This record gives sequence, C-alpha cells and structure tokens, in this order.
Amino acid sequence: MKAAILRSPKNITLSEIQTPLSPRSDEAIVKVKYAAICGTDLHLYRGETPAKYPVILGHEYAGEVLMVGQGVRNIKPGDRVIGSYMASCGKCRFCILGKPQLCERRLMFGINIDGSFAEYMKIPLAERVLVKIPEELDYRDAVLVADTFLTAFNAVEKALKPGETLLITGLGSIGLSAALAAKIMGASTIIGTARRERPIKIAKELGVKYVLNPDKEDAVKKVMD
Ligand SMILES: [Zn+2]
Ligand SMILES: [Zn+2]
Repeated sequence: MKAAILRSPKNITLSEIQTPLSPRSDEAIVKVKYAAICGTDLHLYRGETPAKYPVILGHEYAGEVLMVGQGVRNIKPGDRVIGSYMASCGKCRFCILGKPQLCERRLMFGINIDGSFAEYMKIPLAERVLVKIPEELDYRDAVLVADTFLTAFNAVEKALKPGETLLITGLGSIGLSAALAAKIMGASTIIGTARRERPIKIAKELGVKYVLNPDKEDAVKKVMD
C-alpha cells in the first residue's frame, strides 16, 4: 500500500510498504476512505511536536472495516467507521477515572503508532477506538467528526448552558464546529469573530447571529453592547 511516512522533521515520503493484513485479537484493519490534515500534523511535520520516527502521519480518518481480530465484537468487516485520534488501555487509573486522554499507555495515531495517511490502517484496541457511522453520513463529512468537531463540542458542553449567549473568538474549523455545537445545545445567541469572507458566510449559515470583523470594527465594544 501507499503511505505518507514522516521520517524526521520536514522529511516526509510517499512510500510503498506492506499492507497490514493480519490483525491480532484486539485489532481491526480499516480501509481509509478519507483522512484530514490537522494542525497537529503541521507541528509534527515541522518537528515542533516530537514523534516516534518513522511513523505514518494522520489521526483523522473515516473508512470501511476490512478485517477484525477474534476479540473484536462491536464491529465487523464492511462496517463504515470513524475513530478516535488515540487508543487508550481502559485499565490504568486515568482510564478508570474516565480520562482516557491521559491514559498511561496511550497510543497516538500518527505520533507513536502508524496513522491514517495510508490506504489501510491497523487499529489496536479497536473496540475502544472505532465507532460505526450511519448510512446517510458520507465519509467526507464523517472524517471531521472525531477530532475537529468533538474538540469543539467538548469545550462548548463544559462552558454553555441552554439559553445562554456564547462568544466564539475565531471562526476557523474548530470555531465553526463550536457554533454548530452551541446551536445543538440551545444557545440563545451566538456571536463570533472572523476576518475572511468564507468563514463569515458559513458562520451565518450555521446560525451565528453576529459575525464581527476585528479589522473593521471594535469587536470588544460591539460584544459588550
Ligand atoms: Zn487533530
Ligand atoms: Zn489507560
């Protein structure tokens, strides 16, 4: 299969390597349909975040399950899935406390195990990593859910109660996801800031009531008004 391998900072190659085809008991093999580039990938590429070289980059992915190991029961070949950016053990003190992101044995796709910029991915602890997606959701939209959207959703869920007003400073991909999350959670008014035309347009479509451009107006004063 083809894979984009980060070999050292700023040294990435598109290489032909062996396709992973024999999953162990807890593993699944996924045929990657879409993979997205995250800001973290750029930090990894530039060497600002250390990685275990050589590693296949990428942790945002959507695809079809090709094979599963004997111990994997909640997904089967042919399922359409997305997955977490990491695999957690489920057994250490952090996992038991419900904080798998701090897992002592966490495996981070595209950082310390091979990631999604490849035709196929081997997913360890697949029952904890993969989630099935509904038929009506296409892979291209689904690829944005697990990392981009849930990062924003998590923040909004902690900060917002239904009926409150929310200010989002910076309507980039995460900011726009936050607007969508705030709408789902019943924010009364959503205010956002953006400089470029495209995010301003998308924000309005998503229900952001006031989109302020800090280059053109006093955004702080407008928000306080
Ligand atoms: Zn990411
Ligand atoms: Zn753990």
